[in-house]
Amino acid sequence: MFNFKHFFVVVMMVLVGFIGMAAHSDDVSAAQTIRFTSAMHTNKNLTYKGTIKYYVKGDAKKYQADINYAANRWNKALGRKVLRPTNSQSGSRLVFTGTNKLGAGYAGMAEINSGVIALNNSWMNRYSNQKQRAVVIHELGHTFGTKDLYNYPDASLRNTFKKQTIMGGNYSTNIKTFDAKLAKWTLSKTRSMSATEFNHYRSNKGLYYQQMLHGQL
Ligand SMILES: [Zn+2]
Repeated sequence: MFNFKHFFVVVMMVLVGFIGMAAHSDDVSAAQTIRFTSAMHTNKNLTYKGTIKYYVKGDAKKYQADINYAANRWNKALGRKVLRPTNSQSGSRLVFTGTNKLGAGYAGMAEINSGVIALNNSWMNRYSNQKQRAVVIHELGHTFGTKDLYNYPDASLRNTFKKQTIMGGNYSTNIKTFDAKLAKWTLSKTRSMSATEFNHYRSNKGLYYQQMLHGQL
């Protein structure tokens, strides 16, 4: 039996579905179907009581605006203020430093144990403002416990990730649905460190925090 009212509803649903798909066609095409796996996350994140307080060291002040921009982008994507600035280095979970001593192949490095993001001045100086911000956004992604997706074991997915995701290294400042969902998921799959455990790492001479304090980073 044909009923006009039913026909109209069906047409409307199809239209909404189509528009919805079209609106998301620039996102990772299979964002809804790619399954997150344990190969995407480490065992811990940098949060403490739900937040990551970040401190910008003197040598990274030139990147302050980019850092605040990147932190705000992530907070917006996550729907809560996970990243918060602090003026206390000892009270921070994350310290930004600008350095000339990173390996030449790295624009930035995130060390999650003692909580350091090191930005390579020689790369940052060459980069556009957009790319500088993208580097910070990518490195901040690691503080939630997410791994580099350009190293993902599956070759086909790896190529998709490289082109379309923050953690795959797409150098975008646009945190899309897939990036945000992955960050939320890794936060839920990883653990935060107690103050004791975190301070233990910060006092380790081999880790970035101590190297930075002693001018080796
Ligand atoms: Zn990375």
